[in-house]
Amino acid sequence: MTAKPESHALPLDVERIRADFPLLARTVHGKPLIYFDNANTSQKPVSVIDAVDRHYREHNANVARAVHQLGEEATASYEGARDSLARFLNASSRNEVILTSGTTQSINLVAYSWALPRLKPGDAILTTVMEHHANIVPWQIVAERTGAVVKAAPIDTNGELIVEKFVEMLTPDVKLACVAHVSNVLGTVNPVRELARECRKRGIPLLVDGSQAAPHRPIDVQALGCDFYAVTGHKMLAPTGTGALWAKREHLESMPPFFGGGEMIREVRFDGTVFADPPHRFEAGTPNIAGFAGMTAAIDYLNGIGFDRLETYEQGLLAYATDALESVPGVRIFGRAAEKEPVISFLIEGAHANDMATLLDLEGVAVRSGHHCAHPLMQFFGVPATLRASLAFYNTRAEVDGFIRAIEKVRKLLL
Ligand code: PLP
Repeated sequence: MTAKPESHALPLDVERIRADFPLLARTVHGKPLIYFDNANTSQKPVSVIDAVDRHYREHNANVARAVHQLGEEATASYEGARDSLARFLNASSRNEVILTSGTTQSINLVAYSWALPRLKPGDAILTTVMEHHANIVPWQIVAERTGAVVKAAPIDTNGELIVEKFVEMLTPDVKLACVAHVSNVLGTVNPVRELARECRKRGIPLLVDGSQAAPHRPIDVQALGCDFYAVTGHKMLAPTGTGALWAKREHLESMPPFFGGGEMIREVRFDGTVFADPPHRFEAGTPNIAGFAGMTAAIDYLNGIGFDRLETYEQGLLAYATDALESVPGVRIFGRAAEKEPVISFLIEGAHANDMATLLDLEGVAVRSGHHCAHPLMQFFGVPATLRASLAFYNTRAEVDGFIRAIEKVRKLLL
């Protein structure tokens, strides 16, 4: 485990932070909750819950339709979320940010609007073995409809992408490359800048699935040099059903809409409808307006902590949890990347992942078990499932100690 260089930022006051997250105070099966399923979805601070509540109590109206006061307030709040996301991702323009229901919709938008009209037999889409199904299945659908193929770049046993192989696989038939910034199973951070540079040299657009990166590290789409970047709100403190796709303007301008309906048109005529410009061209229908009020509050909360402090704290916690877990007899940890976010996949020899997770739940510990929507990665490691403990900045070393005690207890019950 390589720790990040020491930061000079003030340490986190985690007890104060925890007081902002009401759910963390609850008990489960009579035990204090230890919530280690943050890669699945994060808990929400009071400021996010209040922003959603305030929207419905004080500002509820539809966006971009009514000229009345409430309509203007709702529209300002919704468009304000676009501004927040544009700053959060360091987009060069707010018009490059499409508001979506999450990464799945963001990636499908690129699949249907960008890839489907372009690809043809003989073309390929390059992805990697470590992807979430959301960054595999849309490409398989496109491939099936167009006659293109999907290729997957390999990883090594540490769970790191083999960059030379990825680059070798960027052959002239590849029309789009798609990688996770951070693996949801292994925590591996992929060298996106380097991959983007190699893709650019060959004129291949790069899509990055940033679902698991945005909650943990500052994102700068311009510095990364990619073409598309997808995020999902509910993993970064925001409400479920919120997310975004950032894309370079040139791509958005060439893309037809994915959904048709209200809000995405300039003029509708039976002899030819004219679509709105991006981003509204891709936002048909009534969006999750209250959710995006929460998105703005979530970004404010993350910025209030500061990613330098957050990263330093999380990396310390990851090192502590990894060391502690390694002391458990029979443990096998999947993913030993030199650079990783606080996600630990593991198995205990002789114990089924689902049995472990069920018994851990009885101890108040929430971890995920299963294939984590990453079948090809499970196939690579030759296991049907793993347990996954995924940490956030509001988790503590005391919780890690409680988690290890619970594992030891459960292990004795099962073996
Ligand atoms: N990509 C990755 C890496 C993920 O971890 C997830 C969620 O688990 C997704 C995509 C899908 O996100 P959503 O279900 O919010 O659209």
